[in-house]
Amino acid sequence: MKFEELYNIAKSVLNPKQISKNSYAGSVAVAILSDNGKVYKGVCIDTPCSMGFCAEHAAIAAMITDGESRVKKVIAVYQDGTIIPPCGRCREFICQIHDDNYKCEVMVKDNTVLTINDLLPVRWE
Ligand SMILES: [Zn+2]
Repeated sequence: MKFEELYNIAKSVLNPKQISKNSYAGSVAVAILSDNGKVYKGVCIDTPCSMGFCAEHAAIAAMITDGESRVKKVIAVYQDGTIIPPCGRCREFICQIHDDNYKCEVMVKDNTVLTINDLLPVRWE
């Protein structure tokens, strides 16, 4: 599956909105292609007191729930359609859930694909 398709899948679940007095959700969406060929989607949840989480976390939770943890490709899309790189925590999180995920491809901006290994070149183990 090409990144273009993953981009469209991620973009399709963008739904930025205020979900309560102090919380927002859906301004970033992610599509993850896993080793089993399935695509897992997620959106961010932004709450006070750092209780929310990134869209990557939501997609990874769905993937793990489905019994998968090997990530092949990841793309994150901001509400305006811009491709954005995963934050440092998500890079680490992706790396920690499967020993081979450092090889996964991440589209970090238009026409630029890096691996987690590129993004985390010196990892602790
Ligand atoms: Zn993140």
